[in-house]
Amino acid sequence: MIDAGTDGGTSAPLPVEDRARLTTGADLWRTRAEPRLGLPSLRMSDGPNGVRGDTFDERVRSWCTPCGTALAASWDEDLVRDVGSLLGEEARRMGVDVLLGPTVNVHRSPLGGRGFECFSEDPLLSGRMAAAWVGGVQGRGVGASPKHFVGNDSETSRTTVDCVIGERALRELYLVPFEHAVRAGAWALMAAYNKVNGVYATEHAYLVKGILKGEWQWDGLLMSDWLAARDTLGCALGGLDLEMPAGPVMGAALAAEVRAGRLPEGELDDKVARLVRLARRVRAGRTAGAESPVEDGGDEAAMLVRAAAGGFVLLQNDGLLPLLPDRQEGVLAVIGPNATDPCFQGGGAAAVNMGPVRLPLEALTERYAHVEYERGAAPRDTYRPLELLDVRTVEEPVGPGLLVTYVVDGGRDGGGAQSVSEVRGSSFLSWYDGIAAFAAGSSGVVRMSAVLIPERTGRHDFSVRGSGPTELRFGGVSVASLTGQARADDMFAAVYANPVGEGSVLLEAGVPVNIEATMRHVPHGIPVFEVGCRAPVPQDLLDRAVALAARAQAVVLVVGTSSDVDSESADRTDTALPGAQDDLVREVLRVNPRTAVVVNAGSAVDLPWAPAAAAILYTWLPGHGFADALASVLSGDLEPGGRLPITLAATPEQYPAYDTTPDSSGRLTYTESVFVGYRHLDEQGLVPAFPFGHGLGYTRFEYGDLTATGTVLGPGGRVELAVSVRNMGDRPGKHVLQVYVTPPRGQVPRPPRELRDLAAVTLAPAEQRRVRFSLGPEAFAYWDETRRAWRVAAGQYAVVVAGSSRDPGTSALVTALRGFSLSSASSLLPDR
Ligand code: BGC
Repeated sequence: MIDAGTDGGTSAPLPVEDRARLTTGADLWRTRAEPRLGLPSLRMSDGPNGVRGDTFDERVRSWCTPCGTALAASWDEDLVRDVGSLLGEEARRMGVDVLLGPTVNVHRSPLGGRGFECFSEDPLLSGRMAAAWVGGVQGRGVGASPKHFVGNDSETSRTTVDCVIGERALRELYLVPFEHAVRAGAWALMAAYNKVNGVYATEHAYLVKGILKGEWQWDGLLMSDWLAARDTLGCALGGLDLEMPAGPVMGAALAAEVRAGRLPEGELDDKVARLVRLARRVRAGRTAGAESPVEDGGDEAAMLVRAAAGGFVLLQNDGLLPLLPDRQEGVLAVIGPNATDPCFQGGGAAAVNMGPVRLPLEALTERYAHVEYERGAAPRDTYRPLELLDVRTVEEPVGPGLLVTYVVDGGRDGGGAQSVSEVRGSSFLSWYDGIAAFAAGSSGVVRMSAVLIPERTGRHDFSVRGSGPTELRFGGVSVASLTGQARADDMFAAVYANPVGEGSVLLEAGVPVNIEATMRHVPHGIPVFEVGCRAPVPQDLLDRAVALAARAQAVVLVVGTSSDVDSESADRTDTALPGAQDDLVREVLRVNPRTAVVVNAGSAVDLPWAPAAAAILYTWLPGHGFADALASVLSGDLEPGGRLPITLAATPEQYPAYDTTPDSSGRLTYTESVFVGYRHLDEQGLVPAFPFGHGLGYTRFEYGDLTATGTVLGPGGRVELAVSVRNMGDRPGKHVLQVYVTPPRGQVPRPPRELRDLAAVTLAPAEQRRVRFSLGPEAFAYWDETRRAWRVAAGQYAVVVAGSSRDPGTSALVTALRGFSLSSASSLLPDR
């Protein structure tokens, strides 16, 4: 046995039961400690776009980084490593040992609810970003846990769906980002909820023992996604090391399997050794990580502005941008719902409490003179937390917020009820670590009360829900109620339950009303208590916006999604901008073509009006830095650094995979095989709205000579490329060199172009740089299902260095005189 503290062994092995108890969590976020092994309890936290901590409480604030797609849009490994370092530091500050990220599943369908968390449709780009992120986090002595291994590329029926994925697509696409993360030294990994080819990912001996721990020789710890472990022997033999959170599947049940002779004891010891190794790595990393300073001198806010701008993709620009503030003459109209209600981050486990954040409108108003704003559309019809309205506490001191009172049944002395109160800043409450007032299983009532001062006269819709029975009253009159949603068998049941009790009230602008909601506390699972409101929407939103646009010198139109749409646990229903936003864009463009449309969305949305826009800037979900990054990029202080990490199709029909609903037998078949994203559009000759890799800056680059050596390729050979790139403009700028390989036409259908290397360079005006790439045979190979090996087919290949998947760029020819197989079965990575 290994000792996490001393590297030594214990003199006497621990009993099977004591070892087996380490294979399940201690609680929601912690692993179990074993002092006899020098093993501390390790604390985990979500990930990936922030460090959420144990609770989801508006008083615990964390930095929110750009989402995965936004980070990948930077194509900048240094930047992503810096973001990882920031997260590692934040994790340390919060006492977190393992950060649950990055999400490295693939943008297969644009509808994937967690697409925003994932990096890209391309496995190499995803893998390089994953490796950089893991390196940054772990460099600070905090473990990363890339997820979800493998096939969790959409959310519909995610806990039961059987993803039917051919071996070639697994090898060439879906496994690749995980292998990059493993090669970057990821200390842990998370197994997905879904099945792959009939077997749950938590029980998949072929993928885990065969590929992950076998071919890739990975020695880290594989934990289950939360509540994804189902079958003791299946998980144990399948190679799962840790059930999370605390559960009945591994632990004592696993000891029983060992005792019964169904599970070899060595399997158990391997799991324990992996947990001990993780603890040892955390300990060693802490000491080492403390010595290296974080980038940007610890100025996280500035770093996050840089990171956000680094992923903004300027899709088109007729010269409107940059919109120089000193050339402004008339009114700058800022229009659109996301200028004042932006989507900083997606919903679900990745969401963090950001605290007060600057809004895009605020930053634009500071940057430009004469800004006027109109919302233009109200795309959300979901209930929003009360704190977005004018709510104040009912008792002294009166101030913004809600009074939450916990009334415990009975008293300590058997007398009347006891109560404690606190002022909270949110009406969406959850207590991941339990409600302190009801410790020791006591019951009682949680009461939320506030004075609401309506902004508008009209019908206000309200919602209420909770883990126990809830009721909402106005002036003592019941308006809405719902029975409790906690289930004794599922600790998350109430957190993710959808139904709400609903009711409406007619309110008058400026006239305060008392609002009171109660929930009977049920001591099961994670307590949740939420009150939401849908305030009336003015009828003339569009007309007012159009009138403003018509008289403005230029328009910044900020549209997008929300964390209801870009969210875990549900896929999107379509790729259109929510609500009437497309109409808003069309109408604004009709009256003022000098419009820069800013799209704030986590993955692809349709842009049917694109040809009419002077400029389109895609900002993804940019986190804390959004407002200042937007003002800086629009005004030209910062470069829009992004290039598309996904294809933006011209129509939804162009996407190779769209509907994510499993068939009647629960299967989701990946019929498109390796033809995901641009690989499909290229093969079909379809013209996207904007191709993978595309993005403009504020300057222009030109390629010089491309030289290539080693162009006759055989086993062990390498193609060495060098290309000059020059900044032709008069301001510094960033260029992303993308290296694609086009294979010869053969019997095996292959994508016409595949990304095989990349480099982001920033050059001063007129600066030229020679950039080198080295491609091994794996860059030319496909997975040969018959030989079960990577194979380079004979024939002539083109190697293209370009600015997008559709850019002709500059190219060289490479020839494989004979076909040959690669000796390693494992991967496309060169350094094996
Ligand atoms: C998500 C994971 C997350 C875990 C813990 C699961 O529902 O799929 O990504 O890390 O919950 O919150």
